[in-house]
Amino acid sequence: MLTSEQARQNQEKYGFNELVEGKKKSVFQIFLEQYKDFLVIILIIAAIVSGFLGDVESTVVILVVITMNAILGTVQTVKAEQSLDSLKQMSAPEAKVIRDGTLIQIPAREVTIGDRVILEAGDCVPADGKLAECASLKVDESALTGESLSVEKSLDEVPEGAALGDQTNRVFSGSFVTYGRGAFEVTGIGMGTEVGKIASLLKNTSEKRTPLQVNLDEFGRKLSILILIFCGILFAINIFQGGSVGDAFLFAVALAVAAIPEALSSIVTIVLSFGTQKMAREHAIIRKLQAVEGLGSVSIVCSDKTGTLTQNKMTVEDYYVDEKRIPAAQIDLNEENQNMLLHFSILCNDSTNTDGQEIGDPTETALINLGSRLGKEALEVRDTYERKSEIPFDSDRKLMSTAHELRGKHIMVVKGAVDVLLTRMTHVRIGKDVLPMTEEEKAKIEAQNMEFSRGGLRVLAFAYREIEGDRAITLEDENDLIFLGLVSMMDPPREESKAAVEECIEAGIKPIMITGDHKVTAAAIAKRIGILKDESEACEGAVIENMSDEELQEFVPKISVYARVSPEHKIRIVRAWQDRGNIVAMTGDGVNDAPALKQADIGVAMGITGTEVSKDAAAMVLTDDNFATIVKAVENGRNLYRNIKYSIQFLLSGNFGAILTVLFASIASLPVPFEPVHLLFINLLTDSLPAIALGLEPHTKDVMKEKPRPINESILTKDYLLRIGTEGLCIGAMTTIAFLIGLNQGGSLLGSTLAFGTLCTSRLVHGFNCKSNRPVIFTNRFFNNVYLIGAFVLGLLLITGVLMIPGLHNIFQVVTLNGTQLLTVYGLALLNLPIIQFLKKLRK
Ligand code: ATP
Repeated sequence: MLTSEQARQNQEKYGFNELVEGKKKSVFQIFLEQYKDFLVIILIIAAIVSGFLGDVESTVVILVVITMNAILGTVQTVKAEQSLDSLKQMSAPEAKVIRDGTLIQIPAREVTIGDRVILEAGDCVPADGKLAECASLKVDESALTGESLSVEKSLDEVPEGAALGDQTNRVFSGSFVTYGRGAFEVTGIGMGTEVGKIASLLKNTSEKRTPLQVNLDEFGRKLSILILIFCGILFAINIFQGGSVGDAFLFAVALAVAAIPEALSSIVTIVLSFGTQKMAREHAIIRKLQAVEGLGSVSIVCSDKTGTLTQNKMTVEDYYVDEKRIPAAQIDLNEENQNMLLHFSILCNDSTNTDGQEIGDPTETALINLGSRLGKEALEVRDTYERKSEIPFDSDRKLMSTAHELRGKHIMVVKGAVDVLLTRMTHVRIGKDVLPMTEEEKAKIEAQNMEFSRGGLRVLAFAYREIEGDRAITLEDENDLIFLGLVSMMDPPREESKAAVEECIEAGIKPIMITGDHKVTAAAIAKRIGILKDESEACEGAVIENMSDEELQEFVPKISVYARVSPEHKIRIVRAWQDRGNIVAMTGDGVNDAPALKQADIGVAMGITGTEVSKDAAAMVLTDDNFATIVKAVENGRNLYRNIKYSIQFLLSGNFGAILTVLFASIASLPVPFEPVHLLFINLLTDSLPAIALGLEPHTKDVMKEKPRPINESILTKDYLLRIGTEGLCIGAMTTIAFLIGLNQGGSLLGSTLAFGTLCTSRLVHGFNCKSNRPVIFTNRFFNNVYLIGAFVLGLLLITGVLMIPGLHNIFQVVTLNGTQLLTVYGLALLNLPIIQFLKKLRK
């Protein structure tokens, strides 16, 4: 055990307890990867061929622009990685250590050599060390040894040089506690641990691409092939019409450059990374990027009750002792059995409350807080009646037992769920007497339990027995018990739960409560917050035990509350809903919840009360443990997806407009309307900003009035393509008109200058069309995105600068426009707004 001063010195000496990550990609590698894109390769080939055909300017421009694009892509990738890293930091593991003699919770990276670390079920082992305490401690070391069964630990000495898996008196960083309790003295941290030695061998877990990114990659690939085919055809037509090979090739290059949406994939990355930052500020930390999109498709949310739907601020309401209900305020410690119940509830309890810092299960802190109020401090009581041995609580067994020496006798205290304990009690203590348990007495206890539960109270039963001698207690001993009393506790629903449940239902999402608590308690709370309308929608986990998977699939829609559920039931419920074609979000906090969290499409862990293991398995961590935060995250997920769709619509419709203009010119045997530099200027510069801005469109509530989006729905639906088509047609028409005007007035250079100016400005204007599928022109919404307005103004300045500053004309291959010509450009571009807005109104 260290003092905080010693810990500081050790930290200085040994450094932080963290693994130096496997080799990360260097910035240069990331930069090179930008050139791997198929679309970029096409551009490079175009540049090389242009050079051979003597159009060196095009070659240089294309290469410069590609390089700029690669630099931008690199910066974005590095930034996105940093933001994901910082999100991961926010959900970094913690450890419980004893410093200056007090139990405190610290970030695992601050654990140092010599620290005494306390371990409980669900904790990750933060460092290597030798066990100093061990109560039925079992540890999953599969990450180190590959052995999937948990290893039972003990304090017994192990011969020197034993294999890692056989060192049962030591624990190792990278493993986690599946059962029991223990404490160890830290001997190795960071790269000095066993896992540190193999850290360089561990695979660098790179972030998987999200379904949307995969969808868009696929789309990009198909688009490239389509473009190549089109370019080939166009090339052939031009040759056939008697054009020169050089001209035919320039057309083909123009078409390729016009069609390739260079900014597409980086925009998705940027929008997702901005989105996750916003969600983190709103208490939902995304650990797997895929979850952001998945959230928009969630149709089932399975939530724990305790702490997520309720406040998890438990207070003891009543005792039931000597066949009497006693409100907490009237507890009298002169009454022997009431005094005994208070002592038992402090002894059979692992929580602590030091200067207001509560560590442990709220059910247990409620018990010791009552003790404090009645003048019995937990630490003192536990010092007097030392714990000899224990069987820790687990949510399958729903019991906890400890053994103590009391008045010269060895007494085992058991606390747990009433229904479980009732089956194990043979006697009852009333006054000073211990009487055989009768059916009548059982009925009284059950009736009291029902009364508490109907009021939404959580109930624990306490029982005890004498054991012979000073031996360790076993599971066998949790039988033939003497009933002492019940304790009821209030855990009020969170105020925001009711509104969040309502919002869920309106959004086509079914909220389901899954709890380890009693059915009647659960139903009472569920009713208050609107999850359950009728008692028949509640059932106990055991009911589904004998059902086949098919039967369960039929059964799940009828149920909104599952009580007395074990972690295995959770997995089956998730699977049944998934098999019915639903996307399921599921919360979990316990050590055994990890498989269910992994099985769910979106595993949601609790940041405050959750075990380290559950956080590790989850896709999202709630920093406030609040159900309403899940609903908020769904809203964010839906909004982000919608915004990304708007961005893509913006990019593709603009590109389509350019393609149509090139095609028209080619078929009408006119000169090439654009130089590659024009299109690259638009695609990479003036188009990227509005596209990103659209991704940042203010979120709206109306997304929660729609049904969840089918997960495998391609982003490019018929309706969506139709919009892109009509809007592209409009932009293409305006650009072509400008081109024709220019051709008539002053030949091909003026024609392409006007076409370039009009296409660029049209697309800037079109940004406002893409804010919504509905017309927004006369609403407040039109001006509500400052980024979009900024992008518009900046884009307009850039294009006007290119058109009006003579020094730039050589580079951009344009001529100076007179006032009327500039107004023509602006006027034609602006026309896109009323026309497309009108089309939206028509469609609506
Ligand atoms: P949820 O699953 O909604 O979080 P829960 O916290 O009630 O609900 P569990 O922690 O699995 O679920 O508890 C199940 C039952 O076990 C409780 O209803 C209670 O009767 C009993 N119980 C809970 N905590 C303890 C404990 N620390 N010691 C003994 N029994 C407990």
